[in-house]
Amino acid sequence: MSKTVSIVLPCYNEAEVIGLTFSRLVPALEEMCERENFRFQVVFVNDGSKDSTLSQLHALALSTLLKRGVVDIISLSRNFGHQLALTAGLRFAKGDAIISIDADLQDPPEVIHPMVKLWLEGADVVYAVRKDRPGETPFKLWTASFFYRTLSRLTDIDIPRNTGDFRLISRRVLDIFNTMPERHRFIRGLIPWIGFKQVPFYYDRNERAAGETKYPFRRMLKLAVDAFTSFSQVPLKMAYYIGSIFALLSFLFAGWVVISHFLLHNTVPGWSSLMVAVLVLGSLNLLVLGIHGEYIGRIYDQSKGRPIYLVDFESSRIHELPEFK
Ligand code: UDP
Ligand code: MG
Repeated sequence: MSKTVSIVLPCYNEAEVIGLTFSRLVPALEEMCERENFRFQVVFVNDGSKDSTLSQLHALALSTLLKRGVVDIISLSRNFGHQLALTAGLRFAKGDAIISIDADLQDPPEVIHPMVKLWLEGADVVYAVRKDRPGETPFKLWTASFFYRTLSRLTDIDIPRNTGDFRLISRRVLDIFNTMPERHRFIRGLIPWIGFKQVPFYYDRNERAAGETKYPFRRMLKLAVDAFTSFSQVPLKMAYYIGSIFALLSFLFAGWVVISHFLLHNTVPGWSSLMVAVLVLGSLNLLVLGIHGEYIGRIYDQSKGRPIYLVDFESSRIHELPEFK
């Protein structure tokens, strides 16, 4: 039976670029499948777009005649964010190898074939590493580099630097991934956590072909907090260590206060030290409480056990795929 490769593209308000993406992705896939005698399934995930993304997707899926593949669309009931949209698309993917790629052509579809070749050579995960990142602000580059350095210091698993969610995974990795129930997902951490044979693939990242980034600073920050809290307990422990040290210091300080009160009789000009103590301890309390809150919030969220995304409708034509010998 010929193998099937699935490509998952989460799309949020990508009306400006989606037609272009489609017209570059499909020929690249047809060519690859022709050469390798494969079939392909494209899965577009509409993540609650407010523009014409969905209608364009329907039009493209209907109007294009594909030789070796099908185009499937899955539309979520609202915007759930990139990581959950990708999760939805991955659950829907039926291929033997599954590639996740952004819809904005920053990751060139032409490099899918070399990545598939690495999979054929036995890799379970092929993660695309960016050699070059034109069109990204120095601020984004700096925050990204700071984030990955800190993350690798604070966590046990090795999260590759300069990678995004452009990767190929094998069926068995996806089957495991699909069993992971967590709600605050940092997929770049979950995949390395799974293990098996993971190999890098170096490529040049392009600028966005059209439209603008759907990842403003606020969302990047949320992703970073999700990454730390889902893969590291160091912040929680740090709060504990700092808390203990300051508790010890305040005991010593209290001892000194008692001595100066009863033996030295010089406690009147103590206002400044009192203020310092109150401020330091007060702020520390808040800090520790805040970190606890992050984790407890997540425990709470997870324990509610709601589905992590909701599907509006699904249209699958995978059964229409012809067999190739
Ligand atoms: N995306 C999504 N839901 C969101 C935000 C983004 O599905 O809530 C998609 C978006 O359409 C794109 C991919 O995730 O295909 C990456 O987003 P973007 O290119 O804006 O991020 P950047 O490359 O700027 O980090
Ligand atoms: Mg992008």
